Amino acid sequence: SALRRLWGSFPLRLSLWYAATFTFSAALLFALLYVLVGSFFERSEKEVISARLKECALVYERGGLPALNQLVHGSQELAVAGGSFFVRVTGPLGSVLLLIAPHDWVQQAQDPQSLSDPRAGRGGSAGLPPGTAWLSIPRDERSDFLVASALMRDGSVLQVGRSADRGATLWRPFLTAFATALGPTLLLGLAGGAVFAHRATAPVRGMLRTARAIISTGNMDERVPETQAAGELAELARQFNRVLAKNGALLRAMREALDNVAHDLRTPLTRLRASAEGALSNPAAPAGELRESLADCTEEAERVLTLLNAVLDVSEAEAGMMRLRRESTDVRALLGQVLEIYSLMAEERRITVRTLWPAHEPCEASLDPTRMRQAFANLVDNALKYTPEGGEVEVGCRRLEGMGGGVEVTVRDNGVGIPAGEQARIWERLYRADKSRGQRGLGLGLSLVKAIVEAHGGRVAVESREGAGSLFTVTLPA
Ligand code: ADP
Repeated sequence: SALRRLWGSFPLRLSLWYAATFTFSAALLFALLYVLVGSFFERSEKEVISARLKECALVYERGGLPALNQLVHGSQELAVAGGSFFVRVTGPLGSVLLLIAPHDWVQQAQDPQSLSDPRAGRGGSAGLPPGTAWLSIPRDERSDFLVASALMRDGSVLQVGRSADRGATLWRPFLTAFATALGPTLLLGLAGGAVFAHRATAPVRGMLRTARAIISTGNMDERVPETQAAGELAELARQFNRVLAKNGALLRAMREALDNVAHDLRTPLTRLRASAEGALSNPAAPAGELRESLADCTEEAERVLTLLNAVLDVSEAEAGMMRLRRESTDVRALLGQVLEIYSLMAEERRITVRTLWPAHEPCEASLDPTRMRQAFANLVDNALKYTPEGGEVEVGCRRLEGMGGGVEVTVRDNGVGIPAGEQARIWERLYRADKSRGQRGLGLGLSLVKAIVEAHGGRVAVESREGAGSLFTVTLPA
C-alpha cells in the first residue's frame, strides 16, 4: 500500500512523465543523428574506394596486368591477406585475371558472376574512369560490401571494393554514446520533472497542510499562504481561503447569535423564576396576588416562546415550508395594529411616528395577517431601534396602479442608515451590521421579513445612506 500511495503521488507521476518524454526526445535526436552520420559515412567510404579505383585504373591502362599486380602486392593496404581492399580484373570473356581479396570476401570473390554489376559499362560518376558503377551487397545486418566497377579500354572490368563495416565504425560507437548519455538524460529528466512538479503542486500541498491543521486543531483562522501567481492551482488556493473566511464569518455569526439567544432568554426566564419564587415563598398571600404572579409568569413564558418561534420561523421560511393562511386583509389596519404595539417604545425614545396613507381608499390584499404583522413589526422595530432619540419614522401604504394592482408598504426613518457595502447582506440570516452591535438583536429580523414577503410572492428592497436614514419597501401582489 506504501507503493500504491507513492504511485498515487501526483508530483512523482508528473516527474516520471517528464523524464519519459525527455528520454524519448533524446532517443529521437540520436536516431536522427545516426541517419545523418550514416549517410556521411557512406559518402566518405565511396570517396576512399573511388580514389583507389582511379589509381588502379591508371596503372592498369598504362602498364597492364603486371603493373597492377605489382602495385597491389607492393601496397600495404591492398595486401593479400588481412588487407581491407578487394581488387579484381575480369577479362572480356568473363575469366578472372587478377584477384586480391580480404579473407572474409573469399566466397563472393571466387565466383565471377557474384560481383558482376549489371550496370557496369553504363553510366559513371564525375572524375572516375568512364563506365564506373557502384554496387552495394549487404553481408549481414550491419555491414555491406561496397564495390565500384569500371570498364577498361581493353574490355576487361576492373573492380575495387571494401567492406563497409557499419557495426564497428558506426553502430557500436553510437550505441555506446547513447547508453552513456541515457543515464544522465534520465536523471536530468527526473530531476527537472521533480523540481517542476514540486513547484507546480506547492499550492495543493499548502491546502492540504491547512486542511489538516484545521481538522487537528480546530483553528478556523488557518490560511493557505497565497501567491500572486497566475494559474488554476494558485487560484484554487485563493478560493479555498475565501471559503474558509466565509465559513469562519458564518461560524462567528452563529456563535454570536447563540450568545444573543441565550442572553435574550435569560432575562424573561430570570423574571419568571423570580415571580414563581415570590409566590411560593408566601403561601399565605391572598389569591389575587398569586394570580398576578401567575399572570407575570405566563407573560414571561410568552416572551421566551416568541423568541424561539422567530428562530424556528426563519428556518422554516428559508426552507420554503412556510404555510400561509391567506385572507383578504386591509393592510392599513394591519399597520395600525403594529404601530399601536410600538407606540410605547416610540414614546420612550422620543421618536415621532407618522402614517402616510389615504384615509378612504382601502389597501386590500390577500395575505396571512399573523405572518405579515410579524414582518411589518420587524421593520418598524428596526426603524425605531436604529434611529436616535428625536428622530422620525414614517410608515406609508398605497395601492399600486397597473400590473394587476398590488400594495406597497414603506417604512422610512432618518436614523443611522446602512453603508452601501452592507445593504445587500442585511437580508442574510444572522447578519448584523458592525454599527448595530450596540443594539439588542439576533440578525434574524430582516431575513424573516424577506422570507415572509417572498412566501407571499412579494418583494423587499432597501434604500439607505449612512447617517441619513433608510427606506424599506415591501411590494405585495393583490
Ligand atoms: P437585528 O436583529 O440586528 O436588527 P435584522 O435582520 O433586523 O437584525 O437587521 C440586520 C441589520 O440590518 C441590522 O443589524 C442593522 O445593522 C441593519 N438595519 C436594519 N434595519 C435598519 C434601519 N432601519 N436602519 C439602519 N440599519 C438597519
